[in-house]
Amino acid sequence: MLKQKNLIFVGAPGAGKGTFSALLLEKHPLVHISTGDLLRDEIKRGTALGQEASGLMKEGKLVPDEVVAGMVRSRLSQPDCDNGFILDGFPRTIRQAELLDAALQELDRPLDRVVYFKVDDEVILQRLTARQNCRKCGAIFNKLFMPSRQEGICDNCGGELYQRPDDSLETAKARLGVFYQQTSPLIEYYGDKGVLLEITETDKDEICRILDRELA
Ligand code: ADP
Ligand code: ZN
Repeated sequence: MLKQKNLIFVGAPGAGKGTFSALLLEKHPLVHISTGDLLRDEIKRGTALGQEASGLMKEGKLVPDEVVAGMVRSRLSQPDCDNGFILDGFPRTIRQAELLDAALQELDRPLDRVVYFKVDDEVILQRLTARQNCRKCGAIFNKLFMPSRQEGICDNCGGELYQRPDDSLETAKARLGVFYQQTSPLIEYYGDKGVLLEITETDKDEICRILDRELA
């Protein structure tokens, strides 16, 4: 029997979705789908979609629902998603969640878990403005909480670390506002469906154990 483990990670920017994904991927053969990464890739390749997204992302605003949902749908239709997937940063609105429901039904991929990362605003802003990403492999570090061994250099691949332009304090605040306005209603949406698992800083290890068991 095919074992599908299909997860969604919901949380404010900088809540630890990407870092927690990396942790799970070390042990489980899931496909990691980050809409932020997919969009940044479109921008890098200079596609029409990338051009549409670029300005919005710089301002910390959301890319239109239909655009992002279409991108995710085509990624989810790839056969490697048979092993299960983590949707990191999608959906971010109720409309996106509805489009996702339809796509998952069509693709016959049931949703198993939605993990909500609950973190204080102050911690979020501190984290975002100190976050560093590797240009080469995408690994995430943090000058305050998870520094690389050598400043500015990736531990994994030796690549150069940089700060995302939308991790400035001003844009980080705007993104946090967008989270509360547009994304947080998803917590109730998925709570009602009975698939929600809440994770806070203190119970991170416990949640990791629960997911490990479910994915085993
Ligand atoms: P973070 O999780 O740190 O906010 P992401 O890399 O997930 O960062 O997203 C960066 C930006 O990409 C967002 O601020 C938004 O402009 C855009 N984006 C990513 N995912 C979505 C989505 N599901 N819907 C709309 N816009 C998105
Ligand atoms: Zn690297």
